[in-house]
Amino acid sequence: MSTVRSPYFKRLRSSAPKKSKSNAPLTPALDSKKAKVTRTKVKLEPQDSFSGKFTGTKSNSHETKAYVNRKEVKQENPKWEPVLWKKQLANIRKMRQSKDAPVDTMGCEKCKGENYSEKDKRFHTLVSLMLSSQTKDQVTHAAMLRLIEHGLTAETVSRIPDEQLGKLIYPVGFWKKKVIYLKKTAHILKEEYDGDIPDDIDGLVKLPGVGPKMAYLAMTCAWNKVVGIGVDVHVHRIANRLKWVKSRTKLPESTRKELEDWLPQSYWREVNWLLVGFGQQICLPVSPRCSDCLNKDICPSSTAKTKMHK
Ligand code: SF4
Repeated sequence: MSTVRSPYFKRLRSSAPKKSKSNAPLTPALDSKKAKVTRTKVKLEPQDSFSGKFTGTKSNSHETKAYVNRKEVKQENPKWEPVLWKKQLANIRKMRQSKDAPVDTMGCEKCKGENYSEKDKRFHTLVSLMLSSQTKDQVTHAAMLRLIEHGLTAETVSRIPDEQLGKLIYPVGFWKKKVIYLKKTAHILKEEYDGDIPDDIDGLVKLPGVGPKMAYLAMTCAWNKVVGIGVDVHVHRIANRLKWVKSRTKLPESTRKELEDWLPQSYWREVNWLLVGFGQQICLPVSPRCSDCLNKDICPSSTAKTKMHK
């Protein structure tokens, strides 16, 4: 004879706690006869970082709403870069087409003696860079011609009397200090590098009077290895005027790091040459010739009357 169980009984069964397979109590509270059954209300709230969509779904006769979470797609922050840099750089390239700035005819690339070994030519590049700080290209170039004519190797510089060396490089900026730096550097190169120059940044910046700008340029011009951007006062100033740095930089070294962060490496060599000449001819340190500049409408620092939003 089958037993007909009332719906009430069925409800009781389904709500009773299931027996654990082991004899261990489900929870200490359920095991105790005196345990009180407490109910906790759980408030469901959408997550702060919710990124799914809100949909309406039908369940039986009730219409319920549910958040459908989508798997968050992790997006890497796109790399920062100045919005108009390609256009600005293309304009600078156009303005530099004639290649008639001092750097084009008298830069460190043009300061190598013809009848010297490759090793000595690398030394010439380093010497011209050391002389060039705080000095116009014309003055550096003239001093280099005198040195090359005298005989310019690590050996000759290490032997030349200070006074004579001073006369050869005068009137480059800080020439007295540079005499000391050149002599010390020549000694180190003779003793440790067989008269050649170091082929890495660390070795170069250890030489007296050689800073990061010179080191990166020496790597490019002497060794033909582009390992960083040579940032001199022109590159530093123009990068800030064009806002090619996220926020204003005080030191050329900070500008170098910022530029290297976003500028593709294929531009590193060219950007130094472009900006140095541009800074010598148009984007001058004082009173830049903005009205003659092709970037006057898209430069945040333009002093020409333009339509540009700054
Ligand atoms: S508009 Fe003026 S400040 Fe700007 S890049 Fe040209 S010359 Fe320099």
